[in-house]
Amino acid sequence: MLHQFFGGVHPAEHKDLTEHKATAPLAEAPAQVVIPMSMHVGAPCKPVVAVGDEVKVGQLIGETAGLGAPIHASVSGKVVAVEPRIHGGGGMMMSVVIENDFQDTPDPSIQRRANVEALTGAEIIEIVKNAGITGMGGAGFPTHVKLSGAVGKVDTLILNGAECEPYITSDHRLMLERGDAVIGGARLMAKAVGLKEATIGIELNKPDAIEHLKTLVGSAGDVHIEGLKTRYPQGAEKQLIQMCTGRQVPPGKLPADVKCCVCNVATAAAVYDAVMEGKPLTQRGVTLTGGALAEPMNVMAPVGTPVSHLIKLAGGFKTDPDRVLYGGPMMGNPIFNLDVPMMKSTNCILCMTTEEAADQDPAQTCIRCGKCVEACPMHLTPLFMRMNTNKRRWSEVEALRVMDCIECGSCNYICPARLPLVQSFRTAKFEIRELAAKEKAAREAKEAAKA
Ligand code: SF4
Ligand code: SF4
Repeated sequence: MLHQFFGGVHPAEHKDLTEHKATAPLAEAPAQVVIPMSMHVGAPCKPVVAVGDEVKVGQLIGETAGLGAPIHASVSGKVVAVEPRIHGGGGMMMSVVIENDFQDTPDPSIQRRANVEALTGAEIIEIVKNAGITGMGGAGFPTHVKLSGAVGKVDTLILNGAECEPYITSDHRLMLERGDAVIGGARLMAKAVGLKEATIGIELNKPDAIEHLKTLVGSAGDVHIEGLKTRYPQGAEKQLIQMCTGRQVPPGKLPADVKCCVCNVATAAAVYDAVMEGKPLTQRGVTLTGGALAEPMNVMAPVGTPVSHLIKLAGGFKTDPDRVLYGGPMMGNPIFNLDVPMMKSTNCILCMTTEEAADQDPAQTCIRCGKCVEACPMHLTPLFMRMNTNKRRWSEVEALRVMDCIECGSCNYICPARLPLVQSFRTAKFEIRELAAKEKAAREAKEAAKA
């Protein structure tokens, strides 16, 4: 039985721009890829190649240094730089730059695996780790860490096929075009965490994907396909859990605290490719869309492809974009320099016209309408959080549970005064974390002085 989550909004979908466009290989491969050593939650990887090295597709080029996921070459060719480059997340990041030889020579380690049935859960997790798989729905959390943390603790594995962000259709296309990999990945991940079943949640605005996956599962019945009433932010982890199981993740807690593990459908397909074919994560489906783009499309692109190259392949801009984002309009991050590369978690490059960017009107004053409170799926009070953020009253903002904000942007969307609410909350979270770090350092210094 399906449940409901609190709040949420219904932004215009704009998925018609690309939802019927099959994921195409790049018409022209990039001459160079720039692969950042951090595309995941955790410590950046350490480069293990040097300028002048010849590399093959799938060869290890960055090894983990703590929590993280290894990084592999996405094209074959020659390493021409190992240096800090502009990073999509802002600032500079150590990157490996590879000049493409256009041969796509695979690394010899990539071999189809025999006897997959005999793999244990721990062995599957080890393969996922070595393949450098990270959450492909946006967050970039190392998948092996998520899976190993779930072993023995969860009774439900949910795959997120909701794709609730407007404009984005890369997961929709994946489920239609590679449904076997999604279902196969779901089974492998279920085995990895010690379960026999998995659930895939898909919004009802993708009836063809729901039907297709149901047909693929057939009478096996071990992967449940749940159609979910379309509402943003359906695909947020806590909201998806509530929809599929009725369980509520308490503030400050994790899905595992309610015995759930949530991964993205694209992550499941990457797990399938790693286990069955021995392929590390080096490419992914990306939606190139928005009214400013001449030919919106879905493409399969090597990690590290410059955003400018992808935009060129989509016909370039037909009009000056108001903004270009990694991701959708609700949770996406602005791209200020088109030379930045697409990363493992890049599911969309959105190029919006001024008309599409709904928040063009200047911000006005809060009229205390309460709509942001009604829309917040985390039961927060955005108007009071913003008021206290503006006054830099960090303890009050923290008491209002700003740290539970999932930055879904529903409050921004609904606010008639066009207030930049979610932007305030990002600032508040940063300030609160900084303050906590300073207090901790001061405490430790005091303790050290006493000793
Ligand atoms: S306060 Fe945070 S969680 Fe609530 S609607 Fe706004 S962005 Fe979403
Ligand atoms: S929706 Fe905007 S105007 Fe209405 S109470 Fe919230 S912050 Fe104020």
